[in-house]
Amino acid sequence: EKVAESVIGEKQGKVVGVGGSRILVFVRVRPMNKKEKEAGSRCCVKIVNRRDVYLSEFANENDYLRLNRIRGRHFTFDASFPDSATQQEVYSTTTSELVEAVLQGRNGSVFCYGATGAGKTYTMLGTLENPGVMVLAIKDLFNKIRQRSFDGSHVVHLSYLEVYNETVRDLLSPGRPLVLREDKQGIVAAGLTQYRAYSTDEVMALLQQGNQNRTTEPTRANETSSRSHAILQVAVEYRVRDTSMNVVNRVGKLSLIDLAGSERALATDQRTLRSLEGANINRSLLALSSCINALVEGKKHIPYRNSKLTQLLKDSLGGTCNTVMIANVSPSNLSFGETQNTVHWADRAKEIRLKVSDANEDLLPVPETETDQAKLVIELQKENR
Ligand code: ADP
Ligand code: MG
Repeated sequence: EKVAESVIGEKQGKVVGVGGSRILVFVRVRPMNKKEKEAGSRCCVKIVNRRDVYLSEFANENDYLRLNRIRGRHFTFDASFPDSATQQEVYSTTTSELVEAVLQGRNGSVFCYGATGAGKTYTMLGTLENPGVMVLAIKDLFNKIRQRSFDGSHVVHLSYLEVYNETVRDLLSPGRPLVLREDKQGIVAAGLTQYRAYSTDEVMALLQQGNQNRTTEPTRANETSSRSHAILQVAVEYRVRDTSMNVVNRVGKLSLIDLAGSERALATDQRTLRSLEGANINRSLLALSSCINALVEGKKHIPYRNSKLTQLLKDSLGGTCNTVMIANVSPSNLSFGETQNTVHWADRAKEIRLKVSDANEDLLPVPETETDQAKLVIELQKENR
């Protein structure tokens, strides 16, 4: 508790201290839907204050005080969002600090985890009326770049891909599956579209279209498969002068991940993992859980190689990245088992320790002659305007 307090602390409703030493974990409860209400279901998740989640299968929300917290269980997160939380609140609390860090040349990643129907895509992508974290992050990024254009020229590139059944596909330019390759930056999907973005408006349309390109369940056309992971990567590149007046190229990368439904991938011990794998369970999600377990246990070997998802997210999990997890849950007791599993998973993710690296910088060669140096200065000044 003490440690968590000192790492995050709360200031004006914002979580501060990203760049600290651990993953930040949040829980979001969605509103009860019509079907759940009509089934007369009870609410089994209560957000007690802005951080605590109270779970009780048999209690009604209103019984909370009467039961005096005896029968259920409490969990504490960096923040917990009740069903009344707005998209903007969720964005500001979970992700805005990461956008700030990306502008300093650091990497960040945000995952939405939870069962199908728990609100992951709503949280990440949202709707036209209520855009989610992906859209709000890009909007915020462009605003911040505009405010600080004197810092350097910023170039924003977007890529949006899907991992489905261990196949990687480009959501911005659907076609043949992409092959993963190792280069000096890490593992990359060869041939993935890098879309240069200039404004927020074009981005919303692009992401909606990309989401339409996600694999659908064969039985239900138009419904995104619960086994599909979507990864949006936003790379910001710019040039600055460091303290010795050298020109440096900085790149910050933000990964926003709408994970597959967690309902069939809840096993945590190796024995169950193996038997489930035979049953064609979502390999990437299991591998993500294994990596998290290994990271929590401080193991030397983290099994990133076990799936496409974990290979792609290697630099977004362990070492050098600010990482945020948002666990999405339904409030209804009809989904109590899933909610409980999701909250337990999130509780475990809190234990992952991170090391956040210095900004990703490449020194650009400084021109040899004074004339060339002067030219570069003029060029930079132009870019900075
Ligand atoms: P998932 O991606 O986890 O399967 P969705 O995000 O598609 O779940 O959510 C399921 C349904 O619930 C969608 O119709 C979505 O619009 C709605 N929904 C989810 N979260 C919220 C929320 N916080 N407020 C309003 N509607 C929500
Ligand atoms: Mg979804």
